[in-house]
Amino acid sequence: MSSHITPLLERNRAFAATETRKQTPRRPFLPDQGLYIITCMDSRTDPADFLGLRFGEAIVARTVGGRVTPAVIQGLSFIGYLVETKAPEGPYFEAAIIHHTDCGSGWLASDEQLRHGFARRTGYEEDALVDLAVLDPAATVRADVERVLSDPRISPRITVSGHVYDVDTGLITTVVAPASPGASAAASPR
Ligand SMILES: [Zn+2]
Repeated sequence: MSSHITPLLERNRAFAATETRKQTPRRPFLPDQGLYIITCMDSRTDPADFLGLRFGEAIVARTVGGRVTPAVIQGLSFIGYLVETKAPEGPYFEAAIIHHTDCGSGWLASDEQLRHGFARRTGYEEDALVDLAVLDPAATVRADVERVLSDPRISPRITVSGHVYDVDTGLITTVVAPASPGASAAASPR
C-alpha cells in the first residue's frame, strides 16, 4: 500500500549504499559538533538546512515553537547523565535552543477561537497554551534557556545557549551566550 513516505524509500536505499551508513555502527553516540539543538517542528526551520548539519553532527529535538517541554528536559538530562557515567572526561555538549520569527505557535496567543477549540479538543489549559506561543522569540528563548539552567536534573557539565532564527533573512542571532547550570553568570533576572 502506498503512503507519503513511499517515494522517499528510494532515497533511503541510496543512503543505505553510502559509506556514511556503512561507518555508522563504529561511530561514537555523541555528536561530532558537541551540539544538542532544540528548535521548532516547522518544516521551514530544519537545522540540517539553516546550520548545514551533516550526518552525526548534532542531536536534534523539535517541538512546537522549539519550546523546552518535559520531554526536552528528559532528553537533555539523559544524555548529560550518559556522558557523566559512560565518558566522564567528556567532551560535554552545548544545548542550543533556537526560536524563530513568524512561528505558527503564535496562533495560540493571537487566535482566541483556535485556542478555545484546541483546549476543548485536547484538555490543555488555555493559559498554558498562551504561554507556549512564540511571539517574541528573543524573550521566549531567554525563558527557555533559564528553564534548562535552573533544572536540577540537567548535568552542570553541559552549556546552554539561546538564539533566534529569522525566517526572512535566514540568519541566526545569539541572544544568550553559553552558560552552565549553576554558574552565577547563567542566571538572568526573573
Ligand atoms: Zn515555529
